[in-house]
Amino acid sequence: MARKMLLDGELSKPNEDEVHYDFDLFVIGAGSAGVRASRMSARHGAKVGICELPFHPISSEVIGGVGGTCVIRGCVPKKILVYGASYGPDLEDARNYGWELNEKVDFNWKKLLQKKTEEIIRLNGVYKRILSSNGVKLFEGEGKLVGPNEVEVTQLDGTKLSFSAKHVLVATGSRAQRPAIPGQELAITSDEALSLDELPKRVVILGGGYIAVEFASIWRGMGATVDLCFRKELPLRGFDDEMRAVVARNLEGRGINLHPRTSLTELIKTDDGIKAITDHGEELTADVVLFATGRKPNTERLNLKVAGVELDNTGAIKVDEYSQTNIPSIWAVGDVTNRMNLTPVALMEGMFFANTVFGGNPTKPDYTNIPFAVFCIPPLSVVGLSEEQALEQAKGDIKVFTSTFNPMKNTISGRQEKTVMKLVVDAETDKVIGASMCGPDAPEIMQGIAVALKCGATKRQFDSTVGIHPSAAEEFVTMRDVTRTIVSKQPKL
Ligand code: NDP
Repeated sequence: MARKMLLDGELSKPNEDEVHYDFDLFVIGAGSAGVRASRMSARHGAKVGICELPFHPISSEVIGGVGGTCVIRGCVPKKILVYGASYGPDLEDARNYGWELNEKVDFNWKKLLQKKTEEIIRLNGVYKRILSSNGVKLFEGEGKLVGPNEVEVTQLDGTKLSFSAKHVLVATGSRAQRPAIPGQELAITSDEALSLDELPKRVVILGGGYIAVEFASIWRGMGATVDLCFRKELPLRGFDDEMRAVVARNLEGRGINLHPRTSLTELIKTDDGIKAITDHGEELTADVVLFATGRKPNTERLNLKVAGVELDNTGAIKVDEYSQTNIPSIWAVGDVTNRMNLTPVALMEGMFFANTVFGGNPTKPDYTNIPFAVFCIPPLSVVGLSEEQALEQAKGDIKVFTSTFNPMKNTISGRQEKTVMKLVVDAETDKVIGASMCGPDAPEIMQGIAVALKCGATKRQFDSTVGIHPSAAEEFVTMRDVTRTIVSKQPKL
């Protein structure tokens, strides 16, 4: 019934006889998804309230901050540290370009940390102003549901505020999870890693996902010894296998010690730091051990059971294609729904929620051809299908085009690191269905390639596009020779 009303656009037209609510929409969580959803809903004319935990760079169950993970303890500070770390190897590369770096070059971690903190405080203020300038009322405190249309916000001093709302949107994100091994409390997560008082000299990282390889690059770039332990043969499970191998080679080439098929079984505090024991019996000593072992949705303290909201077996809120839960007045967007846990996706879900509920334009988020980037050094970026996914999904045969080359900068700097690009093409339709690149500026290049894939570009159209010379990007339009053709696993119709 609610869905029928919704699709008819009737929910955006209040009925005079309806119950009076304090708000048309109350949002729990002011991260990327919550802020976007609330301000777009307000622009559609809704009266919107939002709550968020007080600000701190390191989150806990009672501390967070407007801007959320991405802005305060995720993408933004991480990218600042990636920039900071990149100067180290860039300075080495500069020597063959004639830069005489005669005096000892020092890296001042505390200075970068301070600059990073200033920037996230500035952004926290920007996000607060975005909310107020759009007429969204912000309440600082922990929100929880007390019914399908009721929210309670507990402020830092213990004061409880109660609100009713026609719609409640949960956008509380996720938090790092820790494997339950002895001594696990000695390890840190990415939250603390972005705010360490001292730069570690020796680091052990557990995990082979985004955060693990990004922090391996950051700390190595800043001069630390890095041991990266991951369970699979290669890091970045789920990405194109060939590109995973390229990332592994580059990490190793930059001096990171890779430990494939390795997990940690115990952490022990010693006079010399933390001893990390691997499941092969190896002992690695570190100043810092980072657990980069995934994140779990923030649903535990929301009282969702009382409101009857269904969760999946990962603890994520179950939603339909419009982000509506099984309780018609309650919706959820972003990482708390564990669909595709990326900031731009959370923004899309937040915006489409506002269009659906208050804009009179029900819109389903479109998860096809979403580009990703892993900000290891050099970065990996992809859009569409990996070669393995194409083989599983495509109806016909697949053509793979690859290019491996020495980036022009390296011909002079002497850095031994190739850039690798790949296009996956549907042999029958000639459509490009996947693209990947590992090399400098890959994310900047891949954003444009994503537009081409979204438009359904064919390989012929890529080939007919004139390149920008000299650039690495031009390789994407000059891959003339097919590297291999792979016969589809799907039965031919
Ligand atoms: P990921 O899900 O990317 O990777 C988790 C890693 O931890 C995997 O290698 C996994 O191994 C390993 N792992 C999980 N449990 C254990 C365990 N008990 N013991 C040993 N290893 C374990 O998570 P991250 O923490 O790296 O990042 C969280 C999410 O944040 C990402 O999924 C992504 O959505 C987002 N993110 C996005 C970024 C970007 O867009 N650039 C940057 C950072 C984060 P296995 O593969 O064997 O399961």
